[in-house]
Amino acid sequence: HSTIHTPPPSLESRFRSGDLRALSRAVTLAEASLPAARPLLRAAREQAAQNFIAQKPSIVLGITGSPGSGKSTLTDALISHLRGLGQRVAVVAVDPSSPYSGGAILGDRIRMLRHHADAGVFVRSLASRGALGGLSARTMQVLALLEGAGFDWVILETVGVGQSEVDVASACDHTLLVLTPAGGDGVQAFKAGIMEIADVIAVNKADLPGADRTVRELVAAQGLGAHDEHTWFAPIHKTVAGAGQGTLEPTGIAELVAAVLAHRAHLGAEGLTERRTRRAEFEVRSLVQERLLRRARATSADLYARVARGELDADAAADALLGGELT
Ligand code: GDP
Repeated sequence: HSTIHTPPPSLESRFRSGDLRALSRAVTLAEASLPAARPLLRAAREQAAQNFIAQKPSIVLGITGSPGSGKSTLTDALISHLRGLGQRVAVVAVDPSSPYSGGAILGDRIRMLRHHADAGVFVRSLASRGALGGLSARTMQVLALLEGAGFDWVILETVGVGQSEVDVASACDHTLLVLTPAGGDGVQAFKAGIMEIADVIAVNKADLPGADRTVRELVAAQGLGAHDEHTWFAPIHKTVAGAGQGTLEPTGIAELVAAVLAHRAHLGAEGLTERRTRRAEFEVRSLVQERLLRRARATSADLYARVARGELDADAAADALLGGELT
């Protein structure tokens, strides 16, 4: 008797056919910046572009806000709500602050447990930090893989510290800012210029006192900025994401989802194309930064010693680094 041996399908063809284990492998390769990720990234971009043309692009939503504001809990509530609507949801949780922070990984595990049997949910934590402390290019590439895999929603949840907080807006189609009624959170966000990057605002923990006042302050702050009849004022919604093993029922989640969809309608095809071009620019620039800084680090200490000794000016050293010819 004879057995016909067919070669196993390649990772790329498995990825293209929507195999979730192939996707998981692709994410791992992309996170590690391995060259094997490149054909998969190309396949993902092609697929994402086709989905765009077919008018069913993923909704890539970034979630930002101070640590403890409830981003993780809110993301969980969003997953459950969106699953109830039959939407496929992928979540990337980024904690650039430490390589193995308990926070992101723990939240990840809890979510994995809750949704592990659900093929419509994909959750991954990334610890990668960008060259300048913000989001890394790898994070953007993981988003691209998830878009290519055809998830209806791709959610990027950040720890909400420093540069990564601002980077979210450059990495996603829509940005959800999570604030709380606690001590002038809204005023802080306004002062820090974070409010400007928000397309939708959640005043989470609305079960706590002061939520209405916070909403009023935020509305007043929005009116202070320069605006005209085309200005998108981020809708502000009170939410309860939940707390303490289901002791609080989530509320306001459907309103948040509706607000994101309203923002998408406001952008239209043209606005969304603009955002996606901005996202691509951010990704390419991040790659350039990372490569340049890697080169700068690999440069012999002698170059820097010469600058320190006054034999070479810093501009000339930078030129040499950029030109690749170290004099
Ligand atoms: P993150 O750091 O922004 O991701 O915040 P978490 O989602 O980890 O939430 C921080 C804490 O706030 C946790 O103890 C949550 O249970 C709690 N929390 C989240 N949402 C709510 C809410 O709507 N109401 C109340 N009372 N607590 C909440």
